[in-house]
Amino acid sequence: MKSNLSRVIQDIEALSAFNSTPGSGVTRLAFTEEDRMAREYIKKQMNELALGVWEDGYGNLFGRKEGTNPNAPVIMLGSHYDSVTNGGLFDGVAGLAAALEVVRVFKESQIENYHPVEIVAMNDEEGVRFGTGISNSRVMAGLMKEEELDRAKDQDGITLREAMEIFGVTPDLESAKRPVGSIKAFLERHIEQGPILENTGQDLGLVETIVGLDKYEVVFKGKSGHAGTTPMDNRNDALIAASEVILAVNRIVKDIGDRTVGTVGQLSLSPNAPNVIPGHAHLSIDVRSTKEENMKEAYARLVKEVEVIKEKADVEIMISNGLYIPPVNMSEALIRLMESVCQRLGYSSLRMNSGAGHDAMAMAKVAPTSLVFVPSKDGLSHHPDEWTDYEDLEKGIELMLHTVLELSSDLAGR
Ligand SMILES: [Zn+2]
Repeated sequence: MKSNLSRVIQDIEALSAFNSTPGSGVTRLAFTEEDRMAREYIKKQMNELALGVWEDGYGNLFGRKEGTNPNAPVIMLGSHYDSVTNGGLFDGVAGLAAALEVVRVFKESQIENYHPVEIVAMNDEEGVRFGTGISNSRVMAGLMKEEELDRAKDQDGITLREAMEIFGVTPDLESAKRPVGSIKAFLERHIEQGPILENTGQDLGLVETIVGLDKYEVVFKGKSGHAGTTPMDNRNDALIAASEVILAVNRIVKDIGDRTVGTVGQLSLSPNAPNVIPGHAHLSIDVRSTKEENMKEAYARLVKEVEVIKEKADVEIMISNGLYIPPVNMSEALIRLMESVCQRLGYSSLRMNSGAGHDAMAMAKVAPTSLVFVPSKDGLSHHPDEWTDYEDLEKGIELMLHTVLELSSDLAGR
């Protein structure tokens, strides 16, 4: 019993054709025509496997291979098939193709699974169109509120709710929730999107923790003035204060260490003219860590430093919190199971953390969850040149296949 790589390659290549930017990577945003075409393709694959196929109140697409006990908690496999703008072939799709292949092997080997096995295809993980993200899994985990459907808008002003209705999905978040206990395990395979596996020569990454994210915005209010006539001791330069904050973020996270990272990725100035003192500045801060205490410490220390910078530069500084997601641990039991499967299959594996958010993050709220990484060439992703060697994909599928075999059998604890 073995997976068939050519079928996986066919799925990945077929899905790459549903793309609004041919020739410059893959662009497939939520609830668009490309989404519809990709979804039809996935549905077709599910129907050919004679799975039970349905969509929930957010548009999550499911294919279910019934278990010999239909009431047993399900083993859920899947990932997302939406992309960023000008993204690559593998982000998300690699995991979905793996899920399809696992169920194909089950079918052709006539394996009887005690636990039902469900494939889930998610269409709004990247959150590009509505500026949200990890939406499908948040809905399943009961973490999305109704109001988000009306608040989130695309750049044409179409709300998420309207886009869903146009697409043909009747929004019903309540019915799409999956109760705790109904999912025995959620397994996602994803490309690493970083260089660690490639650099260490390991076949597969078993994620222990998905890092938490703390995003905030800082606004600086000083006073604009003539660059030539305003004396240096009579200025309220917003950019000077902003520069000090940028350096402080860098210094604080380095000092906390423990692989805490902090980035100022956005900065805007006003009036933003060469001969005018910046009167107004606005920047974004993004802090990530596997430990909540590190994120909290970074914030507390920054607030303290801001007090000093404010005085020194004589500029008003306001910090507002944007988004806070605590770090999430994957299931230790599933990691151990996968380590033993890797050993049996002769694959090397590395316990690691994920610096990027994934659907597994939300699913961990309602189910024991595992996230497996396959290597990304040069650590590249969200880019047209994103690449994972097919032999590496195959190892990820085999790991998935043998893990699901163990989990879905009637021996694996009823
Ligand atoms: Zn992804």
